[in-house]
Amino acid sequence: MSLNFDLVRKSAVEYKPAHLLLFHGSGAKERLGAVRELALVLNCIKENRPCGECPACKKIQSGNHPDIHIVKPLKTNIGIEQVLSLQREIYRKISEGKYRICLIDEAHRLTLPAANALLKIAEEPPDNTVIILSSGNAEGVIPTLQSRAQAVFFPSPDEAAWRDEVEAFRLGGTDPDLARRIEEYGIEKVKELIKKYMDIVESGDFLKTLELFLPLERDDCLLFLQSLAVTMKEMVAKGKLSPRFLKEIGNTIEIISKQVNHRLALEVLVLKHISFGGNGIG
Ligand SMILES: [Zn+2]
Repeated sequence: MSLNFDLVRKSAVEYKPAHLLLFHGSGAKERLGAVRELALVLNCIKENRPCGECPACKKIQSGNHPDIHIVKPLKTNIGIEQVLSLQREIYRKISEGKYRICLIDEAHRLTLPAANALLKIAEEPPDNTVIILSSGNAEGVIPTLQSRAQAVFFPSPDEAAWRDEVEAFRLGGTDPDLARRIEEYGIEKVKELIKKYMDIVESGDFLKTLELFLPLERDDCLLFLQSLAVTMKEMVAKGKLSPRFLKEIGNTIEIISKQVNHRLALEVLVLKHISFGGNGIG
């Protein structure tokens, strides 16, 4: 069961934080903000914590506090060496703060040996240390680690919080990470890709596929497919499209994530959709 962050923050105010937390939901930026908030509450030296003014608060806000450790994937994974190096750090005396905070970002990318090493640390946690696993894909975190951690769920920010980016937020199906990537890539460009894709599927003109996908890098393809899935989900909900399309998109995302030739995988997807015939209903 997942707690909400207010309860976790309250335990931190009382200096009774859990040793191992799993932050999931919302976007990477929101979860990172919550990690920082926890670090501030636990390390601020003033009475009303966090004050935002004391040396500890200032160091945390500028990302320079020596007792805050962040471990992220190198290339695609978080390997055992990274966890062992963290382990060497955290069994030393705390340098200046009251609490050591270790963030394992994108925790679903821990390799099995790395996760097991982390599990060992969690079994004999060093004093005043909080390890936070953060993930946009909590189901992907190794189960033994998942079951040990106190899960904390962050709901997506509501549309009102998005102001100028509200279109990206809608196009991203209220997933903040996807919305930010759409914005970076260009909302209009993403919409154009989706429109062209639908045109190809409807007209059955397979030869146009190459032209559409040739300029796309792998990450662009994934971004396009995730946005396409959001748009199609809406169409399926309105009964305008068969759910079979969604399943095929999901499969293609999985195939491309595993490094298979991405353009080929997209061409196969188009062929399947054309063979479904238009909206795939009936
Ligand atoms: Zn302070």
